[in-house]
Amino acid sequence: MPTTIIAGAGHAGGQTAISLRQAGYDGRIIVCGAEPAPPYQRPPLSKKYLSGELARERVFLRPESFYSRHDVELRLGNAVRDVDPAQRTVVLDDGGSLSFTDLVIATGSRPRRLDVPGSDLGNIFYLRTLEDADAIGNALVAGRRLAVVGGGYIGLEIASTAKGLGLEVCVIEAADRILGRVTAPEMSGYYARAHRARGVHVKLSTAVAAFEGDGTVRRVDCGAETIPADVVVIGIGVVPEVRLAESAGIACDDGIVVDERCATSAAHVYAAGDCTRHPNPILGRSLRLESVHNALEQARTAAANIAGTPTRYEQAPWFWSDQFDLKLQMAGISDGYDTIVQRGSMDADDFAMFYLKDGVLIAVDAVNRPREFMACRKLVPQRPSIDPVKLADESIPMQEMA
Ligand SMILES: Cc1cc2nc3c(=O)[nH]c(=O)nc-3n(C[C@H](O)[C@H](O)[C@H](O)COP(=O)(O)OP(=O)(O)OC[C@H]3O[C@@H](n4cnc5c(N)ncnc54)[C@H](O)[C@@H]3O)c2cc1C
Repeated sequence: MPTTIIAGAGHAGGQTAISLRQAGYDGRIIVCGAEPAPPYQRPPLSKKYLSGELARERVFLRPESFYSRHDVELRLGNAVRDVDPAQRTVVLDDGGSLSFTDLVIATGSRPRRLDVPGSDLGNIFYLRTLEDADAIGNALVAGRRLAVVGGGYIGLEIASTAKGLGLEVCVIEAADRILGRVTAPEMSGYYARAHRARGVHVKLSTAVAAFEGDGTVRRVDCGAETIPADVVVIGIGVVPEVRLAESAGIACDDGIVVDERCATSAAHVYAAGDCTRHPNPILGRSLRLESVHNALEQARTAAANIAGTPTRYEQAPWFWSDQFDLKLQMAGISDGYDTIVQRGSMDADDFAMFYLKDGVLIAVDAVNRPREFMACRKLVPQRPSIDPVKLADESIPMQEMA
């Protein structure tokens, strides 16, 4: 009987197992996960799970009974330690060895660490896992002062959740704008204003030099100023988890290199999710993405290819972020835009920013504007030329843009 081993029981790993069965694959499926929990969704960890509005059982991709019903073996709390692509074997942390017909590496990413004096003090956290979210949730007590290091999506979501829980919150960002890695200055300015208007302190061009305290953090030393803090969460990006692939001699380049089929440089070894660097024919380049959509679609692609249906991954990226009453939805990648068009009103928290390059629509950032987002999700892959004046005109429906 053929056997597929999946290294990593996260979003991509769990979806690969589900998609294999949906595709009619009748071989053995073994999912090996470093974490003790069955595959779960990470987005709620900075949003409704952290605020306590979403119960733990709601974060799982499927109830645990799903896996036994579909004959999927879960080996949880048991990471894959080594892969031998030539022999088609893996060795697990518990010393066990397994043979595979196909292997999917879905090891995700891990938080980038901030190595400054005092970073080992108590009440300093990173957020990646359910366990991290539980620890942070326990520390987010109303009246405490939270410092969030890093003004990316996850940091800003934690800031908004903590503010809602009654903490005093300060976001500390080393660059001169928040969200600098992922969006245009106009959106960065809008989000800084939105956070400040809702009571979050946002410090820009402010780098952390050290954390100070007496066993537990009490202050963040930023050189020119010191910010008091009872709790710190560091969210300064992630690095792809490629150690397993690298030590197996599989090609990596800031991510495990895969082709459109999600195949790696080693025969019968696929990779999916945050850990990959993959080509995107719509964008015309290769990239690494940290998003649920990418994890799910690459998982489906790898599963289809293993199950015998040749399939290519060719989709426009999309992503979302929830902060306060602001639902941000993004489609496409705005890098390299030369024209920006706004539809709607930033003051009313109800607008979309369209990005064009050489007259072609390449991306949208939509705040509380699902209609514009949905239309652009369909339009961006078609690379349509659009008149910016028409785009800004609210009286023209989005469906008439192409
Ligand atoms: C707090 C938070 C909020 C987010 N919010 C959003 C959002 O709003 N929208 C969005 O699109 N995306 C969001 N993301 C990103 C999204 O969750 C990730 O892109 C997605 O989880 C990637 O799935 P993955 O399976 O590639 O990696 P992961 O879900 O990280 O899973 C990888 C798993 O592999 C395990 N592993 C690692 N090494 C091994 C090994 N050697 N053997 C076995 N197991 C191993 C890891 O422990 C982990 O459980 C968020 C992420 C976080 C952390």
